[in-house]
Amino acid sequence: MFWAGRDNLAEIQSLGVQCGQLGVPGDLQLTGEVAAGWKSALQQAQFPVVTVFAAYNGENYADIPTVQRTVGFIPRDTRKEREQRTYQVIDFAAAIGVGSFACHIGFVPEDTTHPDYIDVREMVRRVADHGAKNKQTFALETGQEPAHVLQHFLKDVDRGNVGINFDPANMILYGTGDPIEALTVLGPQVVSVHVKDGDWPNRDQSGALGAERPLGQGAVGIPRFVAKLKEIGFRGPLNIEREAENQQERIADIRKAVTYLKSLA
Ligand code: MG
Repeated sequence: MFWAGRDNLAEIQSLGVQCGQLGVPGDLQLTGEVAAGWKSALQQAQFPVVTVFAAYNGENYADIPTVQRTVGFIPRDTRKEREQRTYQVIDFAAAIGVGSFACHIGFVPEDTTHPDYIDVREMVRRVADHGAKNKQTFALETGQEPAHVLQHFLKDVDRGNVGINFDPANMILYGTGDPIEALTVLGPQVVSVHVKDGDWPNRDQSGALGAERPLGQGAVGIPRFVAKLKEIGFRGPLNIEREAENQQERIADIRKAVTYLKSLA
């Protein structure tokens, strides 16, 4: 996944990446002009984008309580504004010819009678219906809830164009469960994947997130993840995600990740 405003498309291609997901930060102006610019840049580069991924202003991934308070559709104070922003991002994706939209919706409560559960389920339905008008899928990023909770939520949302962007590292970073087992459960609903690695949280620090790691150096077991994807018949792109703050380190890690993934193919 490469980010508008952070990554240079030509540089990403020089790493051996052949297609991917475009991350849209919350402060990126989504005018018709910006969409036209992206459309022509992607066409010129002959770089297929499979998903447009939205982040929102005010999101913070410092630790689990902060994620619960700030990320996705769950925080009440920003829900309306993020719904409007989501429609803009979906339409931007349509304008540049991308058939899938994804984001973190935040920590969905397990209690299906909780007002946040109900309101966010309704919002996911409205967002999905907006995407359906453009023939787009809406992929929910995994990690913040165990597989069975997400599976139940999807069933309850009951929209044919809603699926999962499966991120195996997030399951570990949030301590929600073994990603390979989760992939077995959620496989049929997986629309796209992040190939990312990470270590489990430190048990002595309540609320701490695990640490993201360069591909192959964390607890996911990338070879078994790739093997499981093959086993369940997943044929989509392997979207490398690397979140390191240092851009040079990040680019170097993505370069190594491409070579590493090719060695597993
Ligand atoms: Mg991810």
